Amino acid sequence: MKQIKKGAIALSMLSLAVIFSCNKDEENVAEVEATNIDQAKGIERECMYVDGNWPSSATLSTTLTSGAGTSSDVTLMTNQNTAIKTFWRGSSVSAPTFRFVRNGTNWNSTYNAISYSNGKIYYGEGIFRDAKSKDASNLINVMILAHEYGHQLQYAFNLPSVRESTARPNELEADGMAGYYLRRGYGKSTFSSIATGYEFAYSIGDYSTTSSGHHGTPAQRRSAVRLGFLLADPANAKLSASQFDYNFFYYYSGVLSGSYKTGFAKPEGMTQEGHELMMIHMDELKRIQTGQMSDEEYFNLE
Ligand SMILES: [Zn+2]
Repeated sequence: MKQIKKGAIALSMLSLAVIFSCNKDEENVAEVEATNIDQAKGIERECMYVDGNWPSSATLSTTLTSGAGTSSDVTLMTNQNTAIKTFWRGSSVSAPTFRFVRNGTNWNSTYNAISYSNGKIYYGEGIFRDAKSKDASNLINVMILAHEYGHQLQYAFNLPSVRESTARPNELEADGMAGYYLRRGYGKSTFSSIATGYEFAYSIGDYSTTSSGHHGTPAQRRSAVRLGFLLADPANAKLSASQFDYNFFYYYSGVLSGSYKTGFAKPEGMTQEGHELMMIHMDELKRIQTGQMSDEEYFNLE
């Protein structure tokens, strides 16, 4: 598994070198930079928001076309690309290269966002436009970006620590990291204020549980966002990416196995108060994860 991952990264480095040699002046190029967009490969295929390839006619851009969004949308996303990085990794690490992917008004063809192992996040105009139509404040777009940055953390710190034959742990953890950021970094203190975000993740969950690109069922994606949100409670210490990973899977597997019901010790990195708070919510997480909780109850969680 590890060797496969290294191979994928080496391949990506190769393609990065090719791109740079064709495009040395990257900072000065005009809006539209390249006609050949990297397709995701290897482990990157697991990091797509939606399974699929970019069309060959698509181009990269630092701005949005007028049908997809405004200049203030661009400013928000560009600033958030840096803010999410700084939240997790501080100011000494650089932010991912962030680009929109355009393909005219064929919005379905750019309905995706991909995080690459060589430090790039490509964000389709199609998914941006749809997410903005569902929440004009762009909360959904910020959540998707935070999810994609979660994959950057996974590349950087060799996460997730839990591996399965599908992308599910990678994707659920990225959802959890997004929920964590929305509360602790983006300042959304109530669960209802991120409702449009988790509903979007829910709507995009899948039941292809044996496919390598499986992102988690809708109920599992909901529970992952909720778990990330709970870990971000101010009663708890701020977690590093690796601490987040450990605690996310600690509680998540406790929920799956039911082991939380008997003497579940406080894990490292959590405050006592933060752990006690998590324990209060374990039954609730179980009911979300199994799909037993009604929409109404879920929407009214605090
Ligand atoms: Zn993902």
